[in-house]
Amino acid sequence: MDNEALDRELLFLRDMGFSHLDIGRGSPVAGRRGSESGEQEIALPSDRRPATGDLLSELEQIVTACEKCRLSTTRTQVVYGVGNPHADLMFIGEAPGRDEDIQGKPFVGRAGQLLTDIIKAMQLTRDDVYIANVIKCRPPENRNPEPDELEQCRPYIRRQVELIQPKVIVTLGRFALQSLTEKGYAISSARGQWLEWNGIKVMPTYHPAYLLRNPAAKKDVWADMKQVMAELGIEIGNLSPRQ
Ligand code: URA
Repeated sequence: MDNEALDRELLFLRDMGFSHLDIGRGSPVAGRRGSESGEQEIALPSDRRPATGDLLSELEQIVTACEKCRLSTTRTQVVYGVGNPHADLMFIGEAPGRDEDIQGKPFVGRAGQLLTDIIKAMQLTRDDVYIANVIKCRPPENRNPEPDELEQCRPYIRRQVELIQPKVIVTLGRFALQSLTEKGYAISSARGQWLEWNGIKVMPTYHPAYLLRNPAAKKDVWADMKQVMAELGIEIGNLSPRQ
């Protein structure tokens, strides 16, 4: 683990509420320690490193018990994320709606059906990709997330990204883009332009719920997804999402 990754890990643990780390003898912690002969890299053997799926499940347990903000008092259940822990492509949305709150899975309502169509048009399935939101609990009446809610939830999506290490992230709508990156991008100008976040390519595009209200914008999203397919080496056929 390099110093930058270690910094991120420690910040994440701090955000999770940990105040100290026990790194005594025999502790299964990988890291750098000084020795008489100088610094020495200590790495866990790969058969002792937890698999990404296990780490994602561990994080899910933490998120499921989260009571850091007011949304925990009104949710039916936490909507953590679904898909392939080794996905090259990750879709990040805003927050669960009514259907997602009931089912505990992201993008299963009308906007979700459209996202599923987009994924299929990219010649992928939902099981090929990973889907999550920047907010894990439904805001009442589907209102916009509040800044403090976004802030409290941000470590979770960032940790999911860090564990999955996708090649490409597609952010869906303004809140996903702004909250992941913590930058004030306008979706109208950022859409369709590659960004980079923590060494990962990010393609901002419109949210599927916006497409339900503005079907004419589907062609823009499709143009963005073609860029993503090219980046991932997926051959572009003549398919396009249902209009
Ligand atoms: N909209 C989102 O941003 N996420 C969901 O999971 C569903 C709708």
